[in-house]
Amino acid sequence: MKKGIALTIVVGMLLCGCSASQKNQTSSKTEISVQSEVSEESEVSKEESKLPEPESRDVFAMDTYMVLKAYGSNAQKALEEAEDEIKRLESIFSVKVPSSDISKINSTSGNPVTVNASTRTAIAKAIEVGDMTDGALDITVYPLVREWGFTTGDSQNEPNYKIPEQWLIDWHLGNVGYDKIVINDSIVTLPTQFEIDLGAVAKGYATDAVIEILEANKINSALINLGGNVYALGRKPDKSKWKVGIQNPKDTNKTICTLAIENKAVITSGNYERFFEVDGKRYCHIIDPKTGYPADNGIISATVIGDSGLDCDALSTALFVMGTEKAINFCKAHKDIDVILVTKDMKIYITDCLESIITMEDGLKYEVIKR
Ligand code: ADP
Ligand code: MG
Repeated sequence: MKKGIALTIVVGMLLCGCSASQKNQTSSKTEISVQSEVSEESEVSKEESKLPEPESRDVFAMDTYMVLKAYGSNAQKALEEAEDEIKRLESIFSVKVPSSDISKINSTSGNPVTVNASTRTAIAKAIEVGDMTDGALDITVYPLVREWGFTTGDSQNEPNYKIPEQWLIDWHLGNVGYDKIVINDSIVTLPTQFEIDLGAVAKGYATDAVIEILEANKINSALINLGGNVYALGRKPDKSKWKVGIQNPKDTNKTICTLAIENKAVITSGNYERFFEVDGKRYCHIIDPKTGYPADNGIISATVIGDSGLDCDALSTALFVMGTEKAINFCKAHKDIDVILVTKDMKIYITDCLESIITMEDGLKYEVIKR
């Protein structure tokens, strides 16, 4: 078994938020690593270093490091409010918090549970994206996520990764099916035995909530990174666009490319974020709801760029599960999102609109998905 490190790299300025989401490994201690400001500074040009210092906040929540950076006179107050909101969302979304909406739903499955508006919105979006992606996104896979040892919230503790016996996988698959979730206003009901987990959408939801708070505080320049879920608000104070680096899934200390971004979410699902390896085969934390096994359909990293963090988070997980061919076809049919797919053999596919804002690392090439 081998360990891996997940660094989320956001290149750009002193401001650039580089955080590392949790890692995945099988050693006795889970390491958590944050890329230092010093190494970022080496990327900073002389002109960029003239930027004013942003207001900044590091938050550990939703099992990952988050870095919030904002400019403007209200920045401190705005970031305080943003941190409070992230903590509130964690308290209602987390499967690890016994009083959360999700824990209540799971512990009383079969019975109706009244939930917060945010929970309702996140579940409704997950169902919608489940429909759009032929069930690639399915928040009822949680019992399988747990059976494989990928329970959200465990990065602080010793992971309990294991390959479950086939009969257990089959048994759990009998309790998977997002289309059986019933939502009526703020009341959610699951079939008995079913359990859900918002791991695939929670950080995307939180991304949008943070941006809403920053905008309400009249912040028009900010870069937030919720453990790999990035949103670039407005432009940098020098009026140039934010530079967001996309991690190389095979060498997570490097990037494959940089995007010049403004007012967009950039969200990646990868097989390097949480995984274990047995006999040279990698098992990652994203489960294919059709097989009950970790998704292994050709894609090792799927990045979605769009207006809504929630949509991008849901779709990046789904595209990862769908695999290369289905994901490319999905991109052709959905012109409102932009996507970067990296396959097992390091082929890089990008949607056409990205051509004007992407800078590849030396030696790397891409194929364009035309729409
Ligand atoms: P990350 O949270 O690491 O950024 P994702 O957004 O792709 O990555 O979400 C992965 C998480 O979603 C898993 O840790 C698990 O909790 C949950 N999950 C795994 N497979 C699926 C799936 N097919 N559909 C919905 N949720 C999933
Ligand atoms: Mg996701």
